[in-house]
Amino acid sequence: MPQKIAIMGLGKIALDQHVPSILANEDFELAAIVSGRLATVNDLPSFRTQEALYEAMPDVTAIAICTPPAGRFETTRTALLAGRDVLIEKPPAATLGEIAELAEIAEAERRVFFTTWHSRFNPGVEEARRLLAGRRLAKLRVDWREDVRRWHPGQAWIWEPGGFGVFDPGINALSIVTEIAPEPLFVAAARLDVPANRQTPIGVEMTFSTPDPVAGADLTAIFDWRQEGEQSWTITAETTEGTVLRLTEGGARLSVNGEETVAEASREYPRIYAMFARLLDARESHVDVRPLRLVADAFMVGDRRQVEAFEE
Ligand code: NAP
Repeated sequence: MPQKIAIMGLGKIALDQHVPSILANEDFELAAIVSGRLATVNDLPSFRTQEALYEAMPDVTAIAICTPPAGRFETTRTALLAGRDVLIEKPPAATLGEIAELAEIAEAERRVFFTTWHSRFNPGVEEARRLLAGRRLAKLRVDWREDVRRWHPGQAWIWEPGGFGVFDPGINALSIVTEIAPEPLFVAAARLDVPANRQTPIGVEMTFSTPDPVAGADLTAIFDWRQEGEQSWTITAETTEGTVLRLTEGGARLSVNGEETVAEASREYPRIYAMFARLLDARESHVDVRPLRLVADAFMVGDRRQVEAFEE
C-alpha cells in the first residue's frame, strides 16, 4: 500500500521537484497540500494548517516540509508530535539547537525523520566519496557562484535573519563536501560580505582545517551570489598522491585527472523519495547536521564586511 503523504509549503521547490517526484513514486500517494494560501495541485485537498489536515485526513501519515528554514522548527515539531513521519528540505532548521531538539523528539515519538540534502543525491557524489575514502586532502576548492536574481526572485526570506543568504545554495556545496571528504572539516576562518541593506551574506569565503592537518593543505570555499553570465557549482579536490577530482554542475558530473567518469542526468529528488521509502520501511531516521554546523561556525568565527546594498 502506498504511503499517503502531504506537502507543506507549495513554493518553488515543492512544485519543481517534490510534486513530480512523489507522483512518480509508487511507494507514495500525494494525498493533500498544506498551504497558507490554500494553494494546490491536481485538485488535491488543501489545508491552511497541519492540524486541519490531520483532523480531516488522519490516514496521511507522512509529510514533506518545503517551507523556508525560519519557522521550520515549529512546523516539524508539530508534525512529529502529531505522529507523522517527516521529510524536510535543506537546511533542516534555522539553528543547531532546533535540529538537535527535533531529532530528540523524533526518537522519543518513534517517528521517521529525514533531513534531506538534495545535492548529495547527484551521481558524481557517491563516486567521489568512494575515490577519496582513506586518502588525505592536499587541496579543496569549492566554487559556488550564481546570480541571486535568477535563482531566488522575490524570495525576501533569504535576506532575513535565519534566511542563510548565500549559504542557502552554499550549504548544498557543504553537504557534498561533508559527504565526500575523507576526514572531518572545521571552519578555520571565514569572511562574510553582507549588503548594507540586508541581514544575510551575499558572498562568503571560508577556509577549512582538519583534525590532523596535512602540511601546506589549502582547503577553501567561495560562495558568491553576484555572478552574472556563466554560473558555476564546482568542487575540486586533490589528494596528497596528486589525484584530482572535479565535480561540476553541482555533482552531476565527475572527472578524475581530467577524464570524465560520471556524466548522468541529475535525479536528486526521485532518489530522495526512494531513500525516504527505504527509511519508512526500516523505521529508521536519517539526521545529519554537519553542513549546518559548518555554516553556524562560519557565522561564529567569520569577519563581517559591509558591501554595496542589494536591490532586486
Ligand atoms: P519559496 O518558493 O519561497 O516557497 C516556500 C513556500 O513555503 C511558500 O510558497 C509558502 O507556501 C511557504 N511558506 C511558509 N511560511 C513562509 C514564509 N514565512 N515565507 C515564505 N514562504 C513561506 O521557497 P523555495 O525555493 O521553495 O525554498 C523552500 C525550501 O526549499 C528552502 O529551505 C530552500 O533552501 C529549499 N530548496 C530550494 C530550492 C530551489 O531551487 N528553490 C532547491 C532546493 C531546496 P504556501 O503559501 O503554500 O504556504
